[in-house]
Amino acid sequence: MDLVKRLEEYRDRERALAWEGTFAQYFEIACKRPKVARLSHERIYDMIMEAGVETTRNGELRYNFFSQEIFGIEKALQQIVDYFHSAAQRLEVRKRILLLMGPVGGGKSTIVQLLKRGLEAYTRTEAGAVYAIKGCPMHEEPLHLIPQELRPDIEKEFGLYIEGDLCPRCRYMLDNEYHGRIEDVPVQRIAFSEKYRVGIGTFTPSDPKSQDISELVGGIDLSTIGEVGVESDPRAYRFDGELNVANRGLMEFIEMLKVDEKFLYVLLTLSQEQNIKTGRFSMIYADEVVVSHTNEHEYQAFVGNKKSEALQDRIILVKVPYNLRVSDEIKIYEKLLKQSALRNVHIAPYTLRIASIFAVLTRLEPSKKAGMSLMKKLRLYDGEDIEDFKQKDVRELQEEAQREGMDGISPRYVINRLSNALVRQNVTCINPIDALRALRDGLDQHTSITREERERYLNFISEARKEYDELAKKEVQRAFVYSYEEAARTLLNNYLDNVEAYCNKTKLRDPITDEEIDPDEQLMRSIEEQIGITENAKRAFREEILIRISSLARKGLTFDYTSHERLKEAIEKKLFADLRDVVKITTSTRTPDKEQLRKINEVVDRLMTEHGYCHVCANEILRYVGSLLNR
Ligand SMILES: [Zn+2]
Ligand SMILES: [Zn+2]
Repeated sequence: MDLVKRLEEYRDRERALAWEGTFAQYFEIACKRPKVARLSHERIYDMIMEAGVETTRNGELRYNFFSQEIFGIEKALQQIVDYFHSAAQRLEVRKRILLLMGPVGGGKSTIVQLLKRGLEAYTRTEAGAVYAIKGCPMHEEPLHLIPQELRPDIEKEFGLYIEGDLCPRCRYMLDNEYHGRIEDVPVQRIAFSEKYRVGIGTFTPSDPKSQDISELVGGIDLSTIGEVGVESDPRAYRFDGELNVANRGLMEFIEMLKVDEKFLYVLLTLSQEQNIKTGRFSMIYADEVVVSHTNEHEYQAFVGNKKSEALQDRIILVKVPYNLRVSDEIKIYEKLLKQSALRNVHIAPYTLRIASIFAVLTRLEPSKKAGMSLMKKLRLYDGEDIEDFKQKDVRELQEEAQREGMDGISPRYVINRLSNALVRQNVTCINPIDALRALRDGLDQHTSITREERERYLNFISEARKEYDELAKKEVQRAFVYSYEEAARTLLNNYLDNVEAYCNKTKLRDPITDEEIDPDEQLMRSIEEQIGITENAKRAFREEILIRISSLARKGLTFDYTSHERLKEAIEKKLFADLRDVVKITTSTRTPDKEQLRKINEVVDRLMTEHGYCHVCANEILRYVGSLLNR
């Protein structure tokens, strides 16, 4: 990094951020770059789009703005972006409150955090520059100074759309300090900051009885009321409610549906008319995005309440369910782990995958489709094609399960359980079995789950366990073969040569003696039996393989051991069957001889250098697989 250059850039930016001038100067800036005067929704939309968009392989759009922090809920994100897109064009929808509804720990608050932190960063850049009347408690748009009468001409000539009027404080200042000389009114560049209460606000409901509306819209200023005498004097009022400070940016309304009706009424006026009713003043214009979040239960109660009908119409609801893709769930855990006490602990391979499988299983709804188990559904959702189902079936499955993802185990729960297990045992490495044990033990303390759910969850734990057993066996057996891929390829080629000779009724040539020999029936059968091909079906299977080879050849492609899903499975099983005894004996013997010891060390070594194990978990998986094979 070139420090001097970076420091210069930093100073340039700070200088730009400290810009101050008159309204006349600002007007010039705005004419050149009308974007500085855009409204809040458009600003957020531009911010999201500026980070870039990618198209995923299933045709969904992925917004970089969210993609580092949020995984697997593309549909919700798309709805949110659509909302900002329409609102940016000043369509009616901008007058609605964005309500995110979903389960605990599902990403609702992360979305809001990203928008807030994003705005803070964006308004510090040139593209996101914002200017305000200096000293205005609501940092309002300086163009509000322009009288209504002149606005149509200004819009026509300079393309500047002006909406809203001066707040009482600015009106007072203009009349009394500048005597109507608009061009002299001071303007400054501002950067949004939640901490300094500029452009970003958060309203947290407390006890409904004691909560004061002034937290939302400001109130009488006790320090100046004595001087100015009357409450309707703007100097006697503090425009410092969350809605005031969030003007031009975003206000997060936490648990909106829990608050008293009088608060909701304020929101209703804001959303319908873009006005805040404050103290003894006439309506004050405000331009801001209101985002709230809630859970499904509260939302249902809200919808069921007749009194809330008017507000219901003013809401855009976006469901934010849990992620349902194992590979995305892993990314969520990785993100959470980086922020947790587990940062320095070794996580054995497959640990997060197995925990993810459990968590996703708890969120899936059973399908009515014949032959569709939850595990198959889990694989399909994760992008894997399985025997009878393909990716094209995913949409249908999703439509069948509208509520899917609205309950189940949260990522937070999984990470907390893993942390607990570690703190207690003071270990340096955590493996999939530890993880499943921690998750299982936690179910007893999980107060919000019912007895039936607990039973169901326990089943999922054993399903995840089975999944791990298979993976662990493969992992160890693979590590036993010096080059797994090569062994598989050799076995496949040998099989194919024999199949070809068998189907064409020809002979093979012995590579050493050069003698002509018959196809090796025993070898072929030993592979085919691995996937249950009967004596009667063997000819059809072999012919099918030959057809596949020639059809690939026509396209200029070669057949390898991954070209045919079932044959691949057969080859792997055969390889493992051949290895099984060696692995079994080597891994489970209590007193290994010299040769066995050498083999074990070699395998541990390979697990560590090639597969991401540490010394502890490499030895653990060997022991574990040894016990599995001896069952
Ligand atoms: Zn103002
Ligand atoms: Zn380890």
